[in-house]
Amino acid sequence: MASSEVARQLQNDNCRPLSLSGHVGFDSLPDQLVNKSVNQGFCFNILCIGETGIGKSTLIDTLFNTSFDDRVSTHFQPNVRLRAQTYELQESNVRLKLTIVNTVGFGDQINKEDSYQPIVDYIDAQFEAYLQEELKIKRSLYNYHDTRIHVCLYFISPTGHSLKTLDLLTMKNLDSKVNIIPVIAKADTISKTELQKFKIKLMSELVSNGVQIYQFPTDDETISKINATMNGHLPFAVVGSMEEMKIGNKMVKARQYPWGIVQVENENHCDFVKLREMLICTNMEDLREQTHARHYELYRRCKLEEMGFRDTGPENKPVSLQETYEAKRHEFFGELQRKEEEMRQMFVQRVKEKEAILKEAERELQAKFEHLKRLHQEERMKLEEKRKLLEDDMIAFNKRKAATELLQAQAFASTPSVSLKKDKDRKNFM
Ligand code: GDP
Repeated sequence: MASSEVARQLQNDNCRPLSLSGHVGFDSLPDQLVNKSVNQGFCFNILCIGETGIGKSTLIDTLFNTSFDDRVSTHFQPNVRLRAQTYELQESNVRLKLTIVNTVGFGDQINKEDSYQPIVDYIDAQFEAYLQEELKIKRSLYNYHDTRIHVCLYFISPTGHSLKTLDLLTMKNLDSKVNIIPVIAKADTISKTELQKFKIKLMSELVSNGVQIYQFPTDDETISKINATMNGHLPFAVVGSMEEMKIGNKMVKARQYPWGIVQVENENHCDFVKLREMLICTNMEDLREQTHARHYELYRRCKLEEMGFRDTGPENKPVSLQETYEAKRHEFFGELQRKEEEMRQMFVQRVKEKEAILKEAERELQAKFEHLKRLHQEERMKLEEKRKLLEDDMIAFNKRKAATELLQAQAFASTPSVSLKKDKDRKNFM
């Protein structure tokens, strides 16, 4: 910022600029910052996206001049998986905690529709972990292992045709979450003229599909020129190799073919040096900053808004976190009470319904009972009548029987000779 602009800004902030009469020492603040950062060390996380065998591991090894001994992946993964590996590197007195995240199985499935989803989930999960740490009462962000992805190297096949749907879809879904630097892999397999046309085609496809790739920043005077030039070389066409060969009297990284040698660090052969310069030497800090200030900020904002937090109220008045919290609490208790009342009403309704059913059943039972009682009484009355009739019959019969017996007895008593003669006749016969 120019000094006149700084003075104007200070005045706007209601701050009076003063000049010192002697040296006080706060001009050492930048050095203090450097020392502190060096002591603390740095961390940088790279995500490599590209089909299996496209040259991801080789390029990372070549970039950091180390063998990261990444396992070779097969083409038979049922789905895309992310494999993160962290290494501690040191150059001079600067320590770098480097995490390399590889997309295992990317592009190997028949249905590639959701291949980008595990990558989106992984990036979000790292943002979420950071947010959770930030929201803790006891935070330890100073020694927190930040796993947020600072850069995504997107490896494009050197087909010379156009971007695959999978590439477009993946980059489109990631561009608001991560700094994407597209690279044309295995650039030694495409001719120079074809490569130039391919680069132009890729860039126009990215623009027409609205894919935002990372642009090297041009606001810092010291690097704006080089960065602006490098933005014009995107996507970088890279070649990777850890094999060293003697060219002249120098050992260089190269790939040897029956027809010649491709030197990895020769800018006439490929853009490897441009990528290394831009990624590691010039813009590593900007990538880290962009991740925090742009991508993480967006994730954090959306997440907090999702949870109902706002900076301003309905009339654009600023709302404090406390107020939002209170309003949310109030809303929550209101909702709870409404639910409780709803449940109570439902309970009362159910009880009423059950009561009505029980009452109906009771009424039916009572009616049945009354009916049976009536039948029973009728039956009893009929039986009673029958019993009475029988008793009358019996009395009449007994009366008749007694009368008959009396008549017989009288008849017998009035005729004795007849009985004697009968006795005599019986003896003669015997
Ligand atoms: P990854 O599965 O994407 O990690 O791929 P690798 O890094 O394991 O590379 C797969 C194969 O491609 C190996 O045989 C490498 O030697 C080869 N390879 C890597 N980089 C290049 C390159 O720039 N050009 C060419 N022609 N081959 C390469």
